Amino acid sequence: MGMFLNGVVLPFQKGNAPLNKIEDFRAQSSVRVPLVRLDMDTPVPSLPFEENASVAAGSVLYKEDNELPVLAPVAGTFGGTVVLQHPQYGKLLCAELIPGDGDEETLPVIPTEKLTPDDIIRIATEAAIYDELDGVPLAEKLACWQLPENDVASPNYVLVADATENDVFGSSAWAILDEEPEAALLGLQLAAKAMRFTRYHIATMLPKDKRRALKRAINRINVYTVADEYPVTQYADPRDEVFRIGIQACLALAKAVQEGRKSLTAVVTVAGDGVIYSRNLRVPYGANVADILAACNVTIEVDVVLGDAMTGIACPDTHTPLLPGTTTLLVMKPKAARVPQPCIGCGRCATVCHAQLLPYEIVRRAENMHFERLRRLTAQLCDGCGACSYICPADRDVAAAVLRAGETSGPVFLNWGGNEDE
Ligand code: SF4
Ligand code: SF4
Repeated sequence: MGMFLNGVVLPFQKGNAPLNKIEDFRAQSSVRVPLVRLDMDTPVPSLPFEENASVAAGSVLYKEDNELPVLAPVAGTFGGTVVLQHPQYGKLLCAELIPGDGDEETLPVIPTEKLTPDDIIRIATEAAIYDELDGVPLAEKLACWQLPENDVASPNYVLVADATENDVFGSSAWAILDEEPEAALLGLQLAAKAMRFTRYHIATMLPKDKRRALKRAINRINVYTVADEYPVTQYADPRDEVFRIGIQACLALAKAVQEGRKSLTAVVTVAGDGVIYSRNLRVPYGANVADILAACNVTIEVDVVLGDAMTGIACPDTHTPLLPGTTTLLVMKPKAARVPQPCIGCGRCATVCHAQLLPYEIVRRAENMHFERLRRLTAQLCDGCGACSYICPADRDVAAAVLRAGETSGPVFLNWGGNEDE
């Protein structure tokens, strides 16, 4: 397997966004906050607010046992509930808030040195902090990865704040490191304390001048520079075991601990050839994508992607709320759809696969329902990075097909058998 390279080098298309300050975006139309996913038997929750009641930013709209509270991201008026279809999360019941003036509810502040690991996890829960890397609650990760006291293995573990932005257009992590490096580092230190890790650093792929500025601003041993390739596979010394959280989650934790601020916003890069220039906006969760486009003076017909070029998901309806886990809004002028051609067997998809899979072979076996063979090709190790689709000269969506194959190579299909002689 040593012949495989890892990943591809992507063109730099971040534009002006990393050069400018983060701009505050103020929601104009209603903000929609998901309360529950409407699966088959989900009961509709009762809410503590009457319609037209005033709501403070940060107040709890809804809370299920053992879950993060659902917070009001903006102050304003409660407008009732609405059901919508979200491209990532499916059918959601959302609270609707009409933005207006009002207070912001905060948490009590406890001196940092007095905080125990469990205090930090409790604060991450009450502040409703989500990890922007995957939309998972930060508290869930901290609790799950927390080591027992005096764990002998702890020196081998390193907590990494991923600020690489190794995809094509996104630069929100770079913008945060530019503006609040000390606070981001403090949040990382608090997360490490919650997990009882002794080692932590920020992984970056910054241009040289920005990297130097960051190392001057915080201790240089807390900065790790990764190779310029996509996807990043090495966030620390290869001998270490890496646990990864987002830099926005770190910053939110620092603000919750130091200032009692709850996590109500995300920094989002708006970029692509459908905007005049790329920018980083601080956007309340639940803000309407159409509103964000209007703030960026988008008046032409565009295609919108939630996420960056390699792993984003199409957003056909711009009346969609922006939710935790999205840090790039890709706005593109419509292009003629490319028609996938038959595989020419060039093997490039295998060359770039960091998981060292054979994507073309996986797809072939899946299409021919050779499930026994498919199992040996370990398609379930695919993380959907998209490098194989990017490199494919036949314009095939190889990544999607491998992901599907990973799902269908489970025991149900294995029971159908497959031809061992193929
Ligand atoms: S999407 Fe999956 S198969 Fe394709 S390069 Fe990435 S890990 Fe490999
Ligand atoms: S890169 Fe595309 S054409 Fe080449 S082997 Fe892979 S799937 Fe086939």
